[in-house]
Amino acid sequence: MYEHDLLIVGAGLAGLRAGVEGVQKGLRTAVITKVHPVRSHSNAAQGGINAPLTDRGDEWEGHALDTIKGSDYLADQDAVEIMSSEAGDAVLELERMGVIFSRGDDGRLGTRRFGGQKVARTFFVGAITGSAMLHVLYEQALKHGLQVYEEWFVTSLIKEEGAVRGVIALDMKTGELHAIRAKAVLLAAGGAGRVFEPSTNALICTGDGLSLAWRAGAPLMDMEMIQYHPTTLARTGILLSEAARGEGAYLLNSDGERFMEKAAPDYMELASRDVVSRAEQVEINEGRGVDGNVLLDLRHLGRTFIEERLGYLQEVAVEFLGIDLAEQPVPIRPGMHYIMGGIKTNADGETEIPGLYAAGECANVSVHGANRLGANSLLDTIVFGRRAAKKSVEYVKSIGENGSDSEAHLKAEKERLQALLDRPKGARTAEIRNEMATGMTEGIGVFRDQNSMEGALAKVHEMRKKYDASIYVENKGKVFNTDLMFALELDFMLDCAEAVATGALMRKESRGAHFRTDMPDRDDENWLKHTLSYKSEEGVRTETLDVVVTKWEPVKRVY
Ligand SMILES: Cc1cc2nc3c(=O)[nH]c(=O)nc-3n(C[C@H](O)[C@H](O)[C@H](O)COP(=O)(O)OP(=O)(O)OC[C@H]3O[C@@H](n4cnc5c(N)ncnc54)[C@H](O)[C@@H]3O)c2cc1C
Repeated sequence: MYEHDLLIVGAGLAGLRAGVEGVQKGLRTAVITKVHPVRSHSNAAQGGINAPLTDRGDEWEGHALDTIKGSDYLADQDAVEIMSSEAGDAVLELERMGVIFSRGDDGRLGTRRFGGQKVARTFFVGAITGSAMLHVLYEQALKHGLQVYEEWFVTSLIKEEGAVRGVIALDMKTGELHAIRAKAVLLAAGGAGRVFEPSTNALICTGDGLSLAWRAGAPLMDMEMIQYHPTTLARTGILLSEAARGEGAYLLNSDGERFMEKAAPDYMELASRDVVSRAEQVEINEGRGVDGNVLLDLRHLGRTFIEERLGYLQEVAVEFLGIDLAEQPVPIRPGMHYIMGGIKTNADGETEIPGLYAAGECANVSVHGANRLGANSLLDTIVFGRRAAKKSVEYVKSIGENGSDSEAHLKAEKERLQALLDRPKGARTAEIRNEMATGMTEGIGVFRDQNSMEGALAKVHEMRKKYDASIYVENKGKVFNTDLMFALELDFMLDCAEAVATGALMRKESRGAHFRTDMPDRDDENWLKHTLSYKSEEGVRTETLDVVVTKWEPVKRVY
């Protein structure tokens, strides 16, 4: 039997930052991850991490206001204040741990300007910021002796007497299921991008953490807030980082116009992501696109600059479309990128369930509200990863032994998975997943309305029925049974899809990324509120919750 004080599900930036904290505080801490830690999606983050540094003449209040405006006033302002005021320390701490941030000619840490922000306060490592951070945190984890269950897949949480007391997980290498007891479980299991098709997210971003918490009774909050990133590569959906526009790239329509002049005369290409994505979609819908895309033009930046500062983007454009960014504009379009919604937590990572904590993309603190600013997610993972770990350490120290009957949970879970494997024929994972994910993109896209959202929810219900009645796992083997893992991930994704569509139908206004063509205005009177959904025996139960406003009263949002 396996046993820990603190068990963290996920070894991306949030999970590793939390893990290091747990070991440093002297707890028996472990992280569990379905892939090798440095293959977590955090590794793909390119552009950078925000921090207002006072020695630059920047103030945390400026970052907080930009974040709140970016969120279209849906973020809880007390949480944003914490994130902004702790940001400087958190980023400098990373630097001291060994993240070699890019520097300017003056030898000081370099910054670039990201969307929706008045000043340049995004720190970066070329175009591999997330990768550099993740590798350093992994080194720290090894140095501190953090135990890692690598390529172990969590299938369910152990919950007893209202509290979470561990997990059931599949060791992918042997195919054996195990119970792991823990006094506290911290979910840092990342986003749910693959609920949509296409998406910039890795194939492993299947919302497992969100669904695990939802099934355990924790509410998911503001799930309708899906970020479409303005620049994903035509035909592939691969992300071209906001760093391109941060360094001065333009957006053009088929007439060669910089159409952002109409939508955001002050900020132009560096308006908030929701604003830029909508402006692009309008050009495409009104016939000024190029085969369903618009153009991103970097030519004026020059070859040397592109290759030095944006080398990865050049590589992707050449490799996938044969386009040299120094010679030709590249076709791009809005693509699903990030989920602002997630497991409702307070600023200490606590959920409504004792023993269950969450941080990183799977959590909703809420600092991103209806639209996240670029480079605020990496910040969120390290600030709230650390805070959630601190709080869970206090909890672990306050409770006695973990007396959970984990063997009973293990037996039940073994039977559930065996039943899945025993089904002789039925529907394949890919079939259901594609239909669900394309249905979600159609119904809950950059623009949406009552009809489209109802269509998406009906599709999700249909796919859920089909899954429950007939999902079929062809591979009956034990060793690395990815066929089984994909089926279990799809089960999690269907939960997330249902919560997203439910939240979208609840919100009777347009705010941030949730733009309804049938209700195009923001309605602060009735909807300065979070949407909450709970999973229950009778289906999804919904509630709303007031947004916390400290000192920034909502005003009209213009860029
Ligand atoms: C292409 C791309 C570029 C981005 N660029 C930026 C950027 O420049 N700046 C920025 O601020 N943000 C960026 N983001 C967003 C940001 O990278 C993510 O939101 C953030 O890294 C998420 O970190 P995380 O620790 O929450 O989760 P992840 O890094 O996604 O890690 C999740 C972990 O959970 C584990 N896990 C999940 N399910 C299970 C399970 N069932 N059992 C066991 N383990 C499980 C996984 O193995 C993994 O270790 C980008 C995102 C993408 C997709």
